[in-house]
Amino acid sequence: MTRLNETHDAGLQSWVASANAASCDFPIQNLPFAVFRRAGSNEAFRGGVAIGDQIVDLAAVQARGVFTGEAAAAAASASGPTLNPFMTLGPAAWSALRLALSRALRAGSPAEQTLRPCLVPQSEVEYTVPAHIGDYTDFYTSIHHATSVGRLFRPDNPLLPNYKWVPIGYHGRASSIEVSGQSFPRPVGQTLPAGAATPVFGPSKRLDYELELGVFVGTGNERGSRIGIDEAEAHVFGLCLLNDWSARDLQAWEYQPLGPFLSKNFATTISPWIVTLEALAPFRVEWTRPAEDPQPLPYLESGANRAKGALDIRLQVLVETAQMREAGQAPAPLSQTSFRHAYWTIAQMVAHHTVNGCNLQPGDLLGSGTESGPTPEEAGSLLELTFGGKQPLVLPNGQTRTFLEDGDAVVMRGWCEKPGAARIGFGEVVGRVLPALV
Ligand code: MN
Repeated sequence: MTRLNETHDAGLQSWVASANAASCDFPIQNLPFAVFRRAGSNEAFRGGVAIGDQIVDLAAVQARGVFTGEAAAAAASASGPTLNPFMTLGPAAWSALRLALSRALRAGSPAEQTLRPCLVPQSEVEYTVPAHIGDYTDFYTSIHHATSVGRLFRPDNPLLPNYKWVPIGYHGRASSIEVSGQSFPRPVGQTLPAGAATPVFGPSKRLDYELELGVFVGTGNERGSRIGIDEAEAHVFGLCLLNDWSARDLQAWEYQPLGPFLSKNFATTISPWIVTLEALAPFRVEWTRPAEDPQPLPYLESGANRAKGALDIRLQVLVETAQMREAGQAPAPLSQTSFRHAYWTIAQMVAHHTVNGCNLQPGDLLGSGTESGPTPEEAGSLLELTFGGKQPLVLPNGQTRTFLEDGDAVVMRGWCEKPGAARIGFGEVVGRVLPALV
């Protein structure tokens, strides 16, 4: 569990002036990683670090020999088209590069002269998925989401008895994960109309989003070994925003007995920026389990996890309909919550995933599951916000929504803020629904 160090000092300012604005997602205390190139170019994709409205091009850093020692080796490993080689190096290398970048980007640093030519404006780039994602697992860590969705699918039996014992998850589809900007045709499939005995085939009528965090595995484990809960976070590189698009009508018909399949595997969208666990250290909070609930089995229990295992990451979802886009109106906020409400922590997800000897690999992605807070207004899906499609939401322009319509774009944002710490952000993840293929 990362301790606070000089890179978290809220007083640090950068010679990149845009990084010093109070509302900036990417101040010098953040330093998240992405893979990018100049938009529309044939350049090779390479790793970069956000600072204000700029990107430190790590391939240029390597070519110019800006750093020495472990930080130089780390920058070199992050200068290719995926961050997997960098992720594989582990926490000491990640920290060494973060510290070197923090020092070089500080106001007054003599490194400004050599680093300034390595900056690329964010407004001029395009991003790609930052790692080769070998495997993707989606968890279900919000008990508020699990209970409200369970009530819609099984009114008499909302929360199944395993929920409070097992960090529930399913193995998802890695090939359809794309970076922010993804668009996809409305999925088509089998659904069972209310009261019908046989299914119909056609476009989903209940297309939804899920507000989630993605967890990128840094270092993996050998097959047959396990990652203990107190080692788990050392294996985690960082977090992104994740939209787990979900076709609720397909899901309701197919999910028993083996879980989601075509209702989820058509698209998943992630933010380009990965915020490291080290950057998130100031926003750790206590993790608690209600006294009346089952306490975790020993392999999911740890003092460190109880003391600091949760993270206060604010999450917000907004919608931009085609009509709003044409009128130049800003996306409308739908809900806001925090990851601190999760029933299971990242360390528990990693420990559980590997306790049977399953091998995680660098670049594997874990979804947190839909993060819904304790009140109905904090729900992370339309399924919950509209009570199963029964209560439409009225948008500021007068349009209504139960589920997503063609042309709708969903925007998710994340950030951390508290007194005494610099505010850091995740940027955003945007994805858009296209008409179904005929
Ligand atoms: Mn999900």
